[in-house]
Amino acid sequence: MRPVVLVTGGAGFIGSHACKALAAAGYLPVTLDNLTTGHRDAVKWGPLETADIRNRAAVAAILKRHQVEMVMHFAAAAYVGESVQKPGFYYDNNVAGTLSLLTAMRLAGVHRIVFSSSCATYGIPALQPIRETTPQQPINPYGRTKLICEQMIQDIARATGLRFAMLRYFNACGADPEGELSERHRPETHLIPLALLAATGRGNPLRVFGTDYDTPDGTCVRDYIHVSDLAEAHVQAVQWLMAGHENLTVNLGTGIGYSILEILSAIPEVTGRTPAWSPAARRAGDPPMLVADTSRAQRLLGFQPRHSELKTILRHAAPTFGLKVIEHAAA
Ligand code: UDP
Repeated sequence: MRPVVLVTGGAGFIGSHACKALAAAGYLPVTLDNLTTGHRDAVKWGPLETADIRNRAAVAAILKRHQVEMVMHFAAAAYVGESVQKPGFYYDNNVAGTLSLLTAMRLAGVHRIVFSSSCATYGIPALQPIRETTPQQPINPYGRTKLICEQMIQDIARATGLRFAMLRYFNACGADPEGELSERHRPETHLIPLALLAATGRGNPLRVFGTDYDTPDGTCVRDYIHVSDLAEAHVQAVQWLMAGHENLTVNLGTGIGYSILEILSAIPEVTGRTPAWSPAARRAGDPPMLVADTSRAQRLLGFQPRHSELKTILRHAAPTFGLKVIEHAAA
């Protein structure tokens, strides 16, 4: 019998890659997804349960029926800009949803959770790279919902013995190296997919949100981590909790920051196509720079990104948009 992990949001971008990595490591991933933003055809490595995390009774029944040993919780709304426009939706989906899931877990006797947190919980830190001990002062509703969930999990862990691994991701991107999954958001708002779309000539020119930040070239700097490296770290976190180690909070990034203009100039080197772009106003809620110190994840989990070199990320993401990878970039 393979140990069963319930993957909330398993039909989404990071969740589906995590399901593939879990299956490869000998676990059975059971996806729980309401399919509002997830894709049914991304659920390939275990059963799909179509339900909302806020439906406590349904979730408790699913946990019991599948004899779930651990929960990996991705299901959330995750657009910084949208969270500024629709904060109520973010608090309901992310905070109320997580509380409902935690209650269902308690009802079903499931005591371990890997939680999908975010570098958005740090806000605008005084120092880079960002360590796990950096004060968390989020500057947008999305980041605040993730921070509240972290605090909720910690409080419940103290009271009930719930065990957790908190994984604070930086910018997830790329796609399955074997081409079995891709990045598809509805609507697409993320930088790399939109920049690749602009490079095809079918999309609009990329609007660069802010060219006057206090960064080396004036555009925002982010730490872009390949989704398959993130997925692998989730499996390592599951193994960490299965082995009975203490609760864990780690950053998952690469430690290297790229500006938007650096991403745009790498695209022609990989695809031979130059994305058109135009300067635009800053997007509300965007910090100028977010780069991870990943030494804790390396030390405790053995985390080592394997696919997160920028050109590899672009090579794996490009086919989703029908872009060919040029030969000398493929080495
Ligand atoms: N960005 C941009 N134009 C776009 C989409 C994103 O300039 O059309 C910028 C965005 O302001 C941020 C960076 O690219 O500085 C990464 O944004 P994304 O939405 O991909 O991820 P986030 O950092 O919000 O998680």
